[in-house]
Amino acid sequence: MSLTDKEVLEIFNKTEALLNGHFLLTSGRHSDKYFQCAKVLQYPKYNELICKNIADYFKNFEFNAIVCPAIGGIVVGQEIARQLGKRFIFTERENNSMTLRRGFKISPGEKILVCEDVVTTGGSVFEVIDLVKQNGANVVGVGFIVDRSNGKVNFGYSQYSVIKMEVITYLKEDCPLCKKGIEVVKPGSRKTIDKKKLDIKK
Ligand code: ZN
Repeated sequence: MSLTDKEVLEIFNKTEALLNGHFLLTSGRHSDKYFQCAKVLQYPKYNELICKNIADYFKNFEFNAIVCPAIGGIVVGQEIARQLGKRFIFTERENNSMTLRRGFKISPGEKILVCEDVVTTGGSVFEVIDLVKQNGANVVGVGFIVDRSNGKVNFGYSQYSVIKMEVITYLKEDCPLCKKGIEVVKPGSRKTIDKKKLDIKK
């Protein structure tokens, strides 16, 4: 049984992967939500449950290895590979280009499933797809946990995301939360944690 969107969101909230508040994002824009996938993947049982959705989707596809971009994709790809009994390797960026290190090899003719944790612009995944093709192998699909592209990213292969999360961000000047006078916090800062504690007490 695959998890429903509601069940996935419950896990995100429970593990504080998804925070509600007023956040200053690294882009400089403001948002009422902040999502950090690593916070949910720190629990192997949740990683197993969430990755099962991806494994279920691709279980009847014919492929021999899973490839993920480091770092975010590693725990996801490893878990999906474990569930489906496939080989798993990851790519790393070296001098700005996606490469295979550590003696990892993709052989010509191999069939590859590409996986990732979160897709926003899809940049890393597109680079992995290019690398697979450069090695003469074929991509059979792309599986990832969260689609934050607002439906914009299309990799051109069978693609599956466990959940689609709409990203609503504001310019500081247009931010409704700023207008309400709510203090903005930088995710990961001490204030975020304090605020969270306050929220729990309410
Ligand atoms: Zn704001």
